[in-house]
Amino acid sequence: MTAKLKVYLNKIKHNIETVEKLCGEREVEITAVTKMFGSDETILKAFLESGISKIGDAEISNFKSLQHLDVEKWAIRIPGFSEVEDMVKYCDVSLNSELDIIKEIEKASKVQGKVHKIILMKELGDLREGILSRDEFLRIADYVLDSKYVELYGLGTNLTCFSFVQPSVDKMLELVELSKEIFGNKEVLISGGNSSTIDLMRCGDLPLEVNNLRLGESLLFGREGSFERYVKGTYDDTFLLEVEILEIKDKPSKPWGEVGLDSYGHKHSFKDSGVRRRAVCGVGKKSIDVEATYALDENIEIVGASSDHLVLDISDSEKNYKVGDVVDLKLEYFSALMAMQSDYVKKEYIY
Ligand SMILES: *Cc1c(COP(=O)(O)O)cnc(C)c1O
Repeated sequence: MTAKLKVYLNKIKHNIETVEKLCGEREVEITAVTKMFGSDETILKAFLESGISKIGDAEISNFKSLQHLDVEKWAIRIPGFSEVEDMVKYCDVSLNSELDIIKEIEKASKVQGKVHKIILMKELGDLREGILSRDEFLRIADYVLDSKYVELYGLGTNLTCFSFVQPSVDKMLELVELSKEIFGNKEVLISGGNSSTIDLMRCGDLPLEVNNLRLGESLLFGREGSFERYVKGTYDDTFLLEVEILEIKDKPSKPWGEVGLDSYGHKHSFKDSGVRRRAVCGVGKKSIDVEATYALDENIEIVGASSDHLVLDISDSEKNYKVGDVVDLKLEYFSALMAMQSDYVKKEYIY
């Protein structure tokens, strides 16, 4: 294989422990979101060794092989009818926003002799999943409270994933108020979002009642959210891709001949920077997201990629690359996600 992903478990563990300490100071418990690495068991083991006891994934199939693990398993994508039966079988908790689905979960739980835990999701402006109307929220909460087969475990919201709306004190207080209306002063789980809520927590603005965050990117890359901020003392170079150089040639930077449309219907224009030294590498769009990929050697420029070729401009590098050498690429969240899930990328774990 021409591409190898090096997963730095040592750095990931350090990140987890750093974020755990930050959350621990505010008595906020972490549900570690594992969807980026498809619940890969080696990475998951590093999570558990760092003290994680709740995990969340979007795909129920990822939980099937994890039945032996003694952790609380959360389905963090609202479930569909087609997966309810398996979800009840393999998960303890799920995020929900539809009464009809909850009724289906109730049926499956009854058949399987279980009590499935429900976290009701409130829409607070990011416009992905969640119940918008307060009345509907209270009505569904009442339904769950009255059921023997589903338990109202808590309330949650998700922000900064779809419209990139940021968490705020007001939004968090809306959740807290809803929880008081449903549960009175009883302490319940309030899940105040994902890595983007860390900033609010660190500034001391997160209401005390918000006692859970579902964290993926901050544990894996130290990254907090959409302001490109990183948790102090964390590593962002946790997933590096070694890719083999297959061709090195000095070529003109401007293509010649009639330039047509790409597969999205766009026409590209090219700057003429004279003759440049280009390296063609053995990885492409089927295994990485080029926009979330950077060469570790800052003097290398990524020119572009097709499905299985990556073209680099190595003219300015101080290193004298040869065919067969490898180039180290730093992958951010969405690129690492693709590489982890690609069958065309070898994985190596660094302890
Ligand atoms: C992906 C996801 C998360 C984790 O988000 P990060 O930004 O990686 O922390 C949390 N909750 C839900 C519902 C998600 O889909």
